[in-house]
Amino acid sequence: MKFRRKDFFKAIALGTISMPFLLRSVLSDTKAQGKSANVSGRTYNWKMVTTWPPNFPILGEACQAYADMVEKMSGGRMNIQVYGGGELVPALECFDTVRSGAAEIGSGAAYYWAGKTPAAQFFASVPFGMNAQQVTAWIYDGGGMELWEELYAKYSLIPMLGGNTGVQMGGWFNKEINTIEDFKGLKMRIPGLGGKVLEKAGGAPVLLAGGEIYTGLERGIIDATEWLGPYHDTQMGFDDIARYYYSPGWHEPGTALEYIFNKEKFESLPPDLQAILRTASYYINNWVMARMEARNAATLAKLKDKGVEIRTFSPEILEQLRKHTNEVIADITAKDAFARKVYESYNDFRQKASAYANITERLFYSSIQAI
Ligand code: CA
Repeated sequence: MKFRRKDFFKAIALGTISMPFLLRSVLSDTKAQGKSANVSGRTYNWKMVTTWPPNFPILGEACQAYADMVEKMSGGRMNIQVYGGGELVPALECFDTVRSGAAEIGSGAAYYWAGKTPAAQFFASVPFGMNAQQVTAWIYDGGGMELWEELYAKYSLIPMLGGNTGVQMGGWFNKEINTIEDFKGLKMRIPGLGGKVLEKAGGAPVLLAGGEIYTGLERGIIDATEWLGPYHDTQMGFDDIARYYYSPGWHEPGTALEYIFNKEKFESLPPDLQAILRTASYYINNWVMARMEARNAATLAKLKDKGVEIRTFSPEILEQLRKHTNEVIADITAKDAFARKVYESYNDFRQKASAYANITERLFYSSIQAI
């Protein structure tokens, strides 16, 4: 359906212009049906399995907020029972559990599924890649969603965005990182593509579950760790056992979170419930981003008062890590055709978004550096 100028003003009056994508999808759904949305009285009781520990701050809490909003919007016709990681199935079995239909919804981040399909990780986070607003733009309006849906359809899944962490922090260290040589032999908890980059720099990425990191760092099993940002990191107590807090999180500049739906079950829902589940994912995307920003900013202020030494990686270190990132991505895209297709779209969008950011946000931020 073509969106005409008079529709634009009508939409503003109706307050719908803030969600043009949603409007388009609802209109095309009803058009395809040849009738208005079918509101049936049937009640659905669905399960959501998550990769987050039960009630994990913001990311886990968001799943319950999603369920609550869906219940309200549907007038109680869609009830979602949320399970923390390990409560119904182990955290990293979400993908297969939703794929099989044993649960209808899953919550996590696409890089957890890199072992199943390497292309997935480009929908979560890429070192030196796009930030939250850029990756959101690529997925919603730059071709990313179409590729993501195509990839997940192979696994009988439908993906939706479920929030973004924003630019993370670079991690906690007990020694200074002054040159790229300081990464040599460094045992660091850093998952995903970031871990592969650390390996290229001579470091040793260590896989540790969230609950093991504090003890690992305290006992010297690892020398350093990354996690999220000030709000989550201080709840883990890293500020008590590590001396330096480095920035920026070059490895996760804007990690997108996801909801995954069993495709057959989602498509069997009446169109109004499908639209509610999609609308609620927009709501949660914003819900998560707002909380990450607000609470990280508030906690950073407290960290400075506490005397934590906040350091930044030098431009030379970042340049070396960026080179290693290109090598890691070249390895992945050489081996997997779909990963190559996704990365081409990602990179094409990133270049345009960076050129735009260079004359807008970069200049803006440099003008307020003194604050
Ligand atoms: Ca992280």
